[in-house]
Amino acid sequence: MRVLGIEGTAWAASAAVYDESDESVFIESDPYQPESGGIHPREAAEHMGEAIPAVIDRVLAHAAETTDSDAADSTDSDAADSTDSDAADSTDSDAADSTDSDAADSTDSDAESANRYDIDCVAFSQGPGLGPCLRTVGTAARAAAQALDVPLVGVNHMVAHLEIGRHESDFDSPVCLNASGANAHLLGYHNGRYRILGETMDTGVGNALDKFTRHIGWSHPGGPKVEEAAKDGELIDLPYVVKGMDFSFSGIMSAAKDAADEGEAIEDICFSLQEHIFGMLTEVAERALSLTGTDELVLGGGVGQNARLQSMLETMCEERGATFYAPDNRFLRDNAGMIAVLGAKQFAAGQTLAIENSQVDPNFRPDEVAVAWRENEAS
Ligand code: ATP
Repeated sequence: MRVLGIEGTAWAASAAVYDESDESVFIESDPYQPESGGIHPREAAEHMGEAIPAVIDRVLAHAAETTDSDAADSTDSDAADSTDSDAADSTDSDAADSTDSDAADSTDSDAESANRYDIDCVAFSQGPGLGPCLRTVGTAARAAAQALDVPLVGVNHMVAHLEIGRHESDFDSPVCLNASGANAHLLGYHNGRYRILGETMDTGVGNALDKFTRHIGWSHPGGPKVEEAAKDGELIDLPYVVKGMDFSFSGIMSAAKDAADEGEAIEDICFSLQEHIFGMLTEVAERALSLTGTDELVLGGGVGQNARLQSMLETMCEERGATFYAPDNRFLRDNAGMIAVLGAKQFAAGQTLAIENSQVDPNFRPDEVAVAWRENEAS
């Protein structure tokens, strides 16, 4: 089975082809980089409109080159072309509108030539994320599915962050720490759903770091710059807030901004932000392992690329006899590869969407997803 995945919840305009036969994941991404400040939803959506057709085009060209079918001789990509104009002006559209699109009218001739790519379904990030971005990318995904004449699969972006770690590690039923830009939570599987065991009570972990770096005048994204500056820092006191399984970043962010305003060394603040914030995440991850009796932990999300966070989690797991797995960076930050991989599992479990039911959901919670694919794996 081969799946075309499309991701565009916030900053990464990304497309991928996952080929189940050899487990290969080919990803092409084009990041949105704000000229100043943080992510502006409207600008990010405009970026999606421009960048998504091009990344789809590139992964479909790769699919055409690597397919066994005779039709592979043909290399121009009608499916990507058909998403072009639609995605660009789709920012206010919804699922119903998309049926009026050029791609919806597209053509049986597109469908006839679809096999050149050997794609079985199109999977896209249905949410959570920024509404304008999601709507643009949703329209592109519907257009691509119709042009290729294949089913559409809606993927929860946060469950995809978890499932790519599970897929790559071959763990059976891990707890997952999702440490991403807009989110921070622990997920564990119980009775057909991924349950949220603990989560941030205010901002996402990456957004918290980005707000601090914005305050001191650094460009977006701030997380990697915090990691770099922290190498030369020493510990100062900052708030540490864990309440049961939940945690909060707003107090520590205000304290970090105040410390910078008062002339504290930026390196010391960055070092201490990492020690406190990642300490909080590690404490709650350990509690989640203990609560569930699980001895497998996977990491997900863009902040998961941070070496200090990985080493704290690794040490905690070692000390309690658990196993820790962090996917490659290309699967930690937002990417369409994880969407394609989970899309394949959902497709095999029959979780396809009719176009008229494919509305995006900016607040799509992971525990709303019926995890039908794990039953398939068991059988
Ligand atoms: P979500 O998956 O919740 O939608 P997102 O769309 O913001 O989040 P991600 O790619 O998961 O995207 O995460 C991006 C965040 O990761 C940004 O806030 C960025 O600052 C942060 N980040 C990236 N690299 C690092 C790093 N090395 N250390 C800390 N934070 C990092």
